[in-house]
Amino acid sequence: MIHEQTIDIVLPGPVFGHITMYALDEPGVAMDERLAEGRAVMLARFPGAVELDPGQVSAQFRLFGVRWPQPSTSWLYNPAGSTPAMDPKSATEAIALGAAGWDNAGGSGFHFDYLGDTDIPTGCNGDVSSYGPDGVNAVGWGHIVGGYLGYSCYWRGTSLVENTPYFATQEFDIVFEPQFPYSAATLRALALHEFGHSLGLDHTEPALCPGRAMCGGNDALTYSSPRQDDINGVIALYGVAPPPPAVPPGQRPYRVTGPLVARD
Ligand SMILES: [Zn+2]
Repeated sequence: MIHEQTIDIVLPGPVFGHITMYALDEPGVAMDERLAEGRAVMLARFPGAVELDPGQVSAQFRLFGVRWPQPSTSWLYNPAGSTPAMDPKSATEAIALGAAGWDNAGGSGFHFDYLGDTDIPTGCNGDVSSYGPDGVNAVGWGHIVGGYLGYSCYWRGTSLVENTPYFATQEFDIVFEPQFPYSAATLRALALHEFGHSLGLDHTEPALCPGRAMCGGNDALTYSSPRQDDINGVIALYGVAPPPPAVPPGQRPYRVTGPLVARD
Protein backbone atom coordinates (compact mmCIF):
# COMPACT_ATOMS: atom_id res chain seq x y z
CA MET A 1 0.00 0.00 0.00
CA ILE A 2 1.20 3.51 -0.81
CA HIS A 3 0.56 6.28 1.67
CA GLU A 4 0.31 9.81 0.36
CA GLN A 5 0.29 12.92 2.46
CA THR A 6 0.50 16.56 1.54
CA ILE A 7 1.68 19.66 3.36
CA ASP A 8 0.91 23.24 2.35
CA ILE A 9 3.03 25.98 3.84
CA VAL A 10 3.75 29.66 3.52
CA LEU A 11 7.16 31.22 4.03
CA PRO A 12 8.20 34.86 4.45
CA GLY A 13 8.08 36.64 1.09
CA PRO A 14 5.43 35.37 0.92
CA VAL A 15 6.15 32.16 -0.93
CA PHE A 16 3.96 29.09 -0.86
CA GLY A 17 4.80 25.44 -0.99
CA HIS A 18 2.82 22.27 -1.57
CA ILE A 19 4.57 19.04 -0.76
CA THR A 20 3.38 15.57 -1.65
CA MET A 21 5.13 12.73 0.13
CA TYR A 22 4.76 9.04 -0.55
CA ALA A 23 5.69 6.22 1.74
CA LEU A 24 5.51 2.48 1.18
CA ASP A 25 4.30 0.07 3.81
CA GLU A 26 7.13 -1.83 5.40
CA PRO A 27 6.65 -4.91 7.53
CA GLY A 28 7.19 -4.15 11.21
CA VAL A 29 7.18 -0.39 10.76
CA ALA A 30 4.52 1.75 12.42
CA MET A 31 3.46 3.76 9.39
CA ASP A 32 1.52 6.40 11.32
CA GLU A 33 4.67 7.22 13.24
CA ARG A 34 6.82 7.23 10.13
CA LEU A 35 4.39 9.53 8.31
CA ALA A 36 4.26 11.92 11.25
CA GLU A 37 8.04 11.82 11.46
CA GLY A 38 8.37 12.55 7.74
CA ARG A 39 5.98 15.44 8.08
CA ALA A 40 7.93 16.91 10.99
CA VAL A 41 11.26 16.52 9.19
CA MET A 42 9.78 18.16 6.11
CA LEU A 43 8.44 21.15 8.04
CA ALA A 44 11.80 21.53 9.78
CA ARG A 45 13.38 22.14 6.39
CA PHE A 46 11.48 25.44 6.14
CA PRO A 47 12.55 27.66 9.00
CA GLY A 48 9.74 30.11 9.71
CA ALA A 49 7.19 28.18 7.65
CA VAL A 50 3.54 28.26 8.65
CA GLU A 51 1.35 25.34 7.67
CA LEU A 52 -1.77 26.22 5.69
CA ASP A 53 -5.26 24.79 5.43
CA PRO A 54 -6.00 23.43 1.95
CA GLY A 55 -8.29 26.40 1.25
CA GLN A 56 -5.42 28.86 1.63
CA VAL A 57 -3.20 27.15 -0.91
CA SER A 58 -1.82 29.15 -3.81
CA ALA A 59 1.19 27.25 -5.09
CA GLN A 60 1.58 23.68 -6.15
CA PHE A 61 4.98 22.18 -6.81
CA ARG A 62 5.00 18.41 -6.53
CA LEU A 63 7.77 15.98 -5.70
CA PHE A 64 8.49 12.40 -6.72
CA GLY A 65 9.65 11.49 -3.21
CA VAL A 66 13.25 10.97 -4.28
CA ARG A 67 16.39 13.12 -4.19
CA TRP A 68 20.15 12.84 -4.60
CA PRO A 69 22.00 12.06 -1.39
CA GLN A 70 24.21 15.11 -1.98
CA PRO A 71 22.86 18.38 -3.39
CA SER A 72 24.45 17.60 -6.76
CA THR A 73 24.82 14.98 -9.45
CA SER A 74 26.73 14.68 -12.71
CA TRP A 75 25.80 13.83 -16.28
CA LEU A 76 27.33 12.78 -19.57
CA TYR A 77 26.05 13.72 -22.99
CA ASN A 78 25.59 11.35 -25.91
CA PRO A 79 25.33 13.47 -29.09
CA ALA A 80 24.33 10.54 -31.35
CA GLY A 81 21.13 11.25 -33.28
CA SER A 82 21.08 14.94 -32.33
CA THR A 83 18.17 16.96 -33.70
CA PRO A 84 18.46 18.16 -37.31
CA ALA A 85 16.86 21.43 -36.16
CA MET A 86 20.23 22.94 -35.20
CA ASP A 87 23.94 22.21 -35.38
CA PRO A 88 25.13 19.67 -32.80
CA LYS A 89 27.28 22.18 -30.91
CA SER A 90 24.35 24.57 -30.40
CA ALA A 91 22.18 21.68 -29.24
CA THR A 92 24.79 20.63 -26.69
CA GLU A 93 25.07 24.19 -25.42
CA ALA A 94 21.30 24.60 -25.12
CA ILE A 95 21.02 21.40 -23.08
CA ALA A 96 23.95 22.34 -20.83
CA LEU A 97 22.39 25.77 -20.22
CA GLY A 98 19.08 24.13 -19.29
CA ALA A 99 20.84 21.91 -16.75
CA ALA A 100 22.76 24.88 -15.35
CA GLY A 101 19.47 26.70 -14.78
CA TRP A 102 19.09 24.72 -11.55
CA ASP A 103 22.51 25.66 -10.18
CA ASN A 104 22.12 26.91 -6.63
CA ALA A 105 18.38 27.51 -7.18
CA GLY A 106 16.98 29.31 -4.15
CA GLY A 107 20.34 29.09 -2.37
CA SER A 108 19.99 25.29 -2.18
CA GLY A 109 23.54 24.72 -3.37
CA PHE A 110 22.23 22.11 -5.80
CA HIS A 111 24.14 21.71 -9.09
CA PHE A 112 24.37 19.41 -12.09
CA ASP A 113 27.97 18.77 -13.15
CA TYR A 114 28.42 18.27 -16.90
CA LEU A 115 31.34 15.86 -17.37
CA GLY A 116 31.50 15.76 -21.19
CA ASP A 117 30.56 13.33 -23.96
CA THR A 118 29.89 9.61 -23.84
CA ASP A 119 28.89 6.95 -26.34
CA ILE A 120 26.94 5.06 -23.67
CA PRO A 121 23.28 5.11 -24.72
CA THR A 122 20.54 6.54 -22.55
CA GLY A 123 19.26 3.53 -20.67
CA CYS A 124 15.56 4.26 -20.61
CA ASN A 125 13.38 5.52 -23.37
CA GLY A 126 9.76 5.61 -22.41
CA ASP A 127 9.85 2.36 -20.49
CA VAL A 128 11.92 2.35 -17.34
CA SER A 129 10.92 -1.22 -16.48
CA SER A 130 12.69 -2.60 -19.58
CA TYR A 131 16.09 -1.26 -18.64
CA GLY A 132 18.30 -1.67 -15.66
CA PRO A 133 20.53 1.07 -14.35
CA ASP A 134 24.01 1.13 -15.91
CA GLY A 135 25.64 3.52 -13.45
CA VAL A 136 25.83 6.40 -15.94
CA ASN A 137 23.62 9.48 -15.96
CA ALA A 138 23.31 9.71 -19.73
CA VAL A 139 21.52 12.48 -21.62
CA GLY A 140 20.86 11.99 -25.32
CA TRP A 141 18.50 11.59 -28.23
CA GLY A 142 16.00 9.03 -29.40
CA HIS A 143 12.53 8.76 -30.89
CA ILE A 144 9.93 8.78 -28.14
CA VAL A 145 6.74 6.84 -28.73
CA GLY A 146 3.57 8.73 -27.86
CA GLY A 147 4.47 12.20 -29.07
CA TYR A 148 6.44 13.32 -26.04
CA LEU A 149 9.38 15.65 -26.60
CA GLY A 150 11.42 14.65 -23.58
CA TYR A 151 11.64 11.81 -21.15
CA SER A 152 13.39 11.72 -17.80
CA CYS A 153 13.64 8.58 -15.72
CA TYR A 154 15.33 7.68 -12.50
CA TRP A 155 16.29 4.65 -10.49
CA ARG A 156 16.27 4.80 -6.73
CA GLY A 157 17.38 2.65 -3.84
CA THR A 158 15.26 1.33 -0.99
CA SER A 159 16.80 3.50 1.72
CA LEU A 160 15.99 7.07 2.63
CA VAL A 161 18.49 9.90 2.38
CA GLU A 162 19.56 10.51 5.96
CA ASN A 163 17.35 12.95 7.88
CA THR A 164 14.90 13.25 4.99
CA PRO A 165 11.68 11.51 3.96
CA TYR A 166 13.09 10.90 0.43
CA PHE A 167 14.47 7.78 -1.18
CA ALA A 168 17.97 8.15 -2.57
CA THR A 169 18.19 8.53 -6.34
CA GLN A 170 20.92 6.38 -7.86
CA GLU A 171 20.80 7.23 -11.55
CA PHE A 172 18.91 9.25 -14.11
CA ASP A 173 18.74 9.34 -17.89
CA ILE A 174 17.14 11.93 -20.16
CA VAL A 175 16.02 11.37 -23.75
CA PHE A 176 15.10 14.16 -26.16
CA GLU A 177 12.95 13.61 -29.25
CA PRO A 178 15.06 14.77 -32.23
CA GLN A 179 12.14 15.25 -34.67
CA PHE A 180 10.97 18.67 -33.48
CA PRO A 181 11.77 22.15 -34.85
CA TYR A 182 13.66 23.30 -31.75
CA SER A 183 15.19 26.72 -31.36
CA ALA A 184 18.08 27.17 -28.94
CA ALA A 185 15.55 28.72 -26.52
CA THR A 186 12.96 25.92 -26.66
CA LEU A 187 15.59 23.17 -26.34
CA ARG A 188 17.14 24.95 -23.38
CA ALA A 189 13.71 25.27 -21.74
CA LEU A 190 12.93 21.59 -22.35
CA ALA A 191 16.31 20.64 -20.84
CA LEU A 192 15.54 22.80 -17.78
CA HIS A 193 12.24 20.93 -17.39
CA GLU A 194 13.70 17.42 -17.84
CA PHE A 195 16.65 18.10 -15.52
CA GLY A 196 14.07 19.41 -13.03
CA HIS A 197 12.49 15.94 -13.07
CA SER A 198 15.95 14.43 -12.59
CA LEU A 199 16.57 16.36 -9.38
CA GLY A 200 13.22 15.16 -8.01
CA LEU A 201 10.47 17.52 -9.19
CA ASP A 202 7.23 16.11 -10.55
CA HIS A 203 4.83 18.10 -12.73
CA THR A 204 3.14 21.06 -11.06
CA GLU A 205 -0.54 20.68 -10.17
CA PRO A 206 -2.34 21.21 -13.52
CA ALA A 207 -4.81 23.65 -11.95
CA LEU A 208 -1.90 26.01 -11.23
CA CYS A 209 -0.50 25.88 -14.77
CA PRO A 210 0.69 27.57 -16.92
CA GLY A 211 3.37 29.66 -15.29
CA ARG A 212 5.99 27.23 -13.97
CA ALA A 213 8.95 25.46 -15.56
CA MET A 214 7.70 22.17 -14.10
CA CYS A 215 4.22 22.43 -15.63
CA GLY A 216 3.60 19.88 -18.37
CA GLY A 217 2.71 20.88 -21.92
CA ASN A 218 3.91 24.12 -23.49
CA ASP A 219 5.44 25.47 -20.28
CA ALA A 220 8.12 22.81 -20.67
CA LEU A 221 9.29 24.77 -23.74
CA THR A 222 8.97 28.25 -22.25
CA TYR A 223 11.29 29.08 -19.36
CA SER A 224 15.06 29.53 -19.40
CA SER A 225 15.18 29.50 -15.59
CA PRO A 226 12.98 28.10 -12.80
CA ARG A 227 10.04 30.12 -11.43
CA GLN A 228 9.62 30.75 -7.70
CA ASP A 229 7.29 27.77 -7.23
CA ASP A 230 9.83 25.47 -8.96
CA ILE A 231 12.55 26.87 -6.69
CA ASN A 232 10.39 26.19 -3.64
CA GLY A 233 10.30 22.57 -4.75
CA VAL A 234 14.11 22.42 -4.93
CA ILE A 235 14.36 23.90 -1.44
CA ALA A 236 11.83 21.36 -0.17
CA LEU A 237 14.11 18.60 -1.46
CA TYR A 238 17.56 19.96 -0.65
CA GLY A 239 17.01 22.72 1.88
CA VAL A 240 19.13 25.84 1.83
CA ALA A 241 22.89 25.44 1.84
CA PRO A 242 24.49 26.34 5.18
CA PRO A 243 26.07 29.79 5.28
CA PRO A 244 29.88 30.01 5.35
CA PRO A 245 31.36 29.65 8.84
CA ALA A 246 31.40 32.79 10.94
CA VAL A 247 34.72 34.59 11.24
CA PRO A 248 35.94 34.86 14.85
CA PRO A 249 36.31 38.44 16.11
CA GLY A 250 39.66 39.99 15.25
CA GLN A 251 40.30 37.67 12.31
CA ARG A 252 40.08 38.61 8.68
CA PRO A 253 37.60 36.71 6.55
CA TYR A 254 39.21 34.22 4.21
CA ARG A 255 38.74 35.36 0.62
CA VAL A 256 38.49 32.83 -2.17
CA THR A 257 38.26 35.35 -4.99
CA GLY A 258 40.58 38.08 -6.20
CA PRO A 259 44.32 38.07 -6.86
CA LEU A 260 46.47 36.64 -4.11
CA VAL A 261 48.78 39.59 -3.53
CA ALA A 262 50.59 40.22 -0.26
CA ARG A 263 50.40 43.94 0.45
CA ASP A 264 51.48 44.15 4.03
ZN1 LIG B 1 7.67 16.71 -17.63
